[in-house]
Amino acid sequence: MQFEQQHDFRALVDQYPRAIMIATKEPRITYVNRMFRFVTGYQSNEVMGESPSVLSAGLHAPEFYQAMWRSLAGDGRWEGLVWNRKKSGEIYPQWLSIYPMEYEGRQAYVGMFMDMGERAGADERLASLAYYDPLTELPNRSLFQEFLEARVSQHSRGEVGFAVLFIDLDFFKSVNDLHGHDCGDGVLKQAAMCIQSVVREGDVVARLSGDEFAVIVELAGHDDLNEVCQRMNQALRAPMIVAHREYFLSASIGASVYPAHGESGAELLQKADRAMYAAKLAGRACYRVYSEADDEQGRREQQLAEALTTSLKTSQDEFHVVYQPQYDLETGRAVGMEALLRWHHPEFGSVSPADFVPLAERRGQIHEMTQRLVRGILADLRDAPSSLPGEFRLAINISARQITDARLGPAISPLFSRIRELGWLLEIEITETHIMHLSSQCLDTLRAFQNQGVVIAIDDFGTGYSSLAYLQNLPVQVLKIDRQFIGGLGKENRDSRIVAAILGIAEALELEVVAEGIETDAQYQELRELECQRGQGFLMARPQPWQQARMTIIDLYQ
Ligand code: C2E
Ligand code: MG
Ligand code: MG
Repeated sequence: MQFEQQHDFRALVDQYPRAIMIATKEPRITYVNRMFRFVTGYQSNEVMGESPSVLSAGLHAPEFYQAMWRSLAGDGRWEGLVWNRKKSGEIYPQWLSIYPMEYEGRQAYVGMFMDMGERAGADERLASLAYYDPLTELPNRSLFQEFLEARVSQHSRGEVGFAVLFIDLDFFKSVNDLHGHDCGDGVLKQAAMCIQSVVREGDVVARLSGDEFAVIVELAGHDDLNEVCQRMNQALRAPMIVAHREYFLSASIGASVYPAHGESGAELLQKADRAMYAAKLAGRACYRVYSEADDEQGRREQQLAEALTTSLKTSQDEFHVVYQPQYDLETGRAVGMEALLRWHHPEFGSVSPADFVPLAERRGQIHEMTQRLVRGILADLRDAPSSLPGEFRLAINISARQITDARLGPAISPLFSRIRELGWLLEIEITETHIMHLSSQCLDTLRAFQNQGVVIAIDDFGTGYSSLAYLQNLPVQVLKIDRQFIGGLGKENRDSRIVAAILGIAEALELEVVAEGIETDAQYQELRELECQRGQGFLMARPQPWQQARMTIIDLYQ
């Protein structure tokens, strides 16, 4: 090579936007470019003549390097992720490509790398797609697993250790379903930033898939884990603002600790996942550190979910409907009833809807469940007495998630026709926590139901975050006060005041009120004094099979 050409070539390599290092076979470093100095923090004179192992973070086992050399000899190149240490001591992952070459007449190797932790340029980004999530720019599941295995192999005896957090956003699917994927993406990006803001600089945060994130948390002391989990829960509970709208989410977090809960990265991640599931079961918006007992419960739920799938597909007689009458509290007359689904499984016995409804929601089987409900009610209504005095109502519960489902209208339409035929009214109850997340499109669907004469009720009112401005614009006619407030009537002043306040709101917005869960005379009396119109509860009647409910209705004629 001419001197000038060689000079140009050097300048070119020196300016190349990736770190380049050339090492001889011994191996000794014989050349580094400018980017190398920038990424590693070493000046050339500090590394020239040294072995490339000065850069190593010591995280990889000898077998890792043996495999690297084998592939270099066999394929003529090696490419992969390695963990190195900067001059500052910071350990960082880099994507390294190594090729053999001849340099100044001798066999040598050229290594090119970039710092994966830094924000990469366009072509680096392309190269890193296999390891990074393009939406949040966080490491993806593959890279996280590599980090985790590397962290496990680096563990030394006596240190407190580290934990793996598995974070799953609650109700994220509703955001996607109800507001579209752009909003969903915005929420995920915010969640990613939120998680990063809670952990320390060196902790690794990754997006595993969908709304699942994971973190490797370095523990300084034994109480550290609870503290981090609490902070994480709190941070994720703050409203997220996407396109000028507030979203109230929360997260369920599972944690596992090395080495107590697992020897390998894969095992730790799996245990953290199961602990997360336990947090979901415990009611979401909380965290659980892995425990055998929780795991057992999770397995039971898994079995239950599988049984539900089978029963919904094949079994005709495991489901039936019970009816709880609702009364006019002034006259004591039955004015309607709520239909509640029951599932009796040959092995698990009777399973509460409080357990199986969330399972069906999570597994996308809520439509099949509503079909069961409608079929059951239609079968019962065959011998229903028609032309009752007044407007008798039959209430059914519908999951908010189902409102976006185009199959809902056709599924309940036969029921609607039958109810009309009887001269009754159909009421649809939707839980308050969900009604706050409905998009304008869903509200239009509800409005369309309302225009056809369906009454819309907010169930479990008082447990969510309804804003008055929002309530005013909802196509809703009835508020059902959650039974936790009714339970405190006559005992807790606070609950009396809350019930009175709800009645006040209802009056201002011209809504009807149904009190649910009335169990004692004292509660009944207080509700009457507060002028609550309607109520249901064990005091008057428990949910009952159709034939019994029918008698209640027939009594209305007397
Ligand atoms: P919900 O809609 O708030 O229904 C009222 C629940 O309170 C029923 O429980 C009822 O049995 C219970 N209850 C009524 N009066 C009293 C009382 O005085 N004391 C006490 N302690 N409890 C009382 P259930 O039948 O176990 O249903 C639980 C929840 O499952 C329902 O709450 C509803 O959200 C859901 N669910 C039930 N059936 C269906 C259904 O067909 N579809 C859907 N999507 N959800 C359903
Ligand atoms: Mg209900
Ligand atoms: Mg309720």
